[in-house]
Amino acid sequence: MTKNQPILPASTNPSDFVIATIGSHSALQILKGAKDEGLKSLAICKKGSERAYESYGVADEIIFVDEWSDWNEQLEEELIKRNAIVIPHGSFIAYMGHDRVSKMQVMYYGTKEILKWESDRTLERQWLEKAGLQLPRVFENPADIDKPVIVKFHGAGGGFGYFIAKTPEQFQEVKDRKYPKENDFAIQEYIVGVPIYAHFFQSPITGELEIMSFDKRYESNADSIGRIRAEDQLAANIHTSYTIVGNIPVVIRESMLQEFFEMGENVVKVSRELCGKGLFGPFCLECIVTRKLEIFCFEISARIVAGTNPYIEGSPYTALKYDVPMSTGRRIARDIKQAIEQGRLEEILG
Ligand code: ATP
Repeated sequence: MTKNQPILPASTNPSDFVIATIGSHSALQILKGAKDEGLKSLAICKKGSERAYESYGVADEIIFVDEWSDWNEQLEEELIKRNAIVIPHGSFIAYMGHDRVSKMQVMYYGTKEILKWESDRTLERQWLEKAGLQLPRVFENPADIDKPVIVKFHGAGGGFGYFIAKTPEQFQEVKDRKYPKENDFAIQEYIVGVPIYAHFFQSPITGELEIMSFDKRYESNADSIGRIRAEDQLAANIHTSYTIVGNIPVVIRESMLQEFFEMGENVVKVSRELCGKGLFGPFCLECIVTRKLEIFCFEISARIVAGTNPYIEGSPYTALKYDVPMSTGRRIARDIKQAIEQGRLEEILG
């Protein structure tokens, strides 16, 4: 993968810059945050998906594409002409693909090299283990299954088709019946506990790690099965799926904050040993907390997650720190604004 270095504008006036992102995922708060911090905002929308960005008035400008494959040099030139800084989010990376992201010429907020570490299960595990996080055990060989496991198929969009097994035989039975040809899967120890997604922000400008908020996900039909009797669940032969439908705010026990801060700090510290500027900006540790209050981390997202969307007006945590409603989108814009004003743009671009 080749990495291109954007040419940085000399201006130290934030209003000469545009915050741009793809109209999806967490774009509403990213674009609103840009405007709140005095920058311009631009949404890149696939035709037919622009309604929210128009209706909520968060985008100063909308550029339309027919397909994401239309993201080409011409579009990038349009963005470069406007001094646009592109903000990646989950859908952004999914639509564009890592390779195209790494070759982008336009200014990009974040470290592109980190994408390799979060997208490869083995590398991701090395990173999190080195940071001292507790991870669910991984079973390389299905024959070793000796406790409940969750089987994750790579192609299973949004957690659809994951299944639970507790013996090698059970695993094989479901695998052969549902996915006879599929071999790209991970078998993880099933951690009994509640899911907690911790949202962090690491600023290269202030050097500080902040906890922005927490959420849990509203998943279909994992969150609906409990609404019917166990007998009916069996009778209806319903399988658990984890298709994400929305996000629900969570405030955690205050005594757990210390550990979450340390986890975030260690992940950032190790990332600096892995690649260039390391991890900065928003990121999320996706965890399960057990009844003994042990925190198991099963995944990291090295960018803004949609779980921050309930907090466009700020979270209980950002309310403690800021005098204005501070969404994660706005926090990104503030980082960029301060970098521009202090002539430190290079430090926040990947
Ligand atoms: P992505 O961030 O890629 O969309 P995700 O956050 O949905 O992935 P998955 O790994 O797909 O996470 O997990 C889907 C669901 O399965 C979540 O509800 C999560 O809480 C649960 N889960 C994942 N791993 C485990 C585990 N090891 N033990 C218990 N539950 C798990």
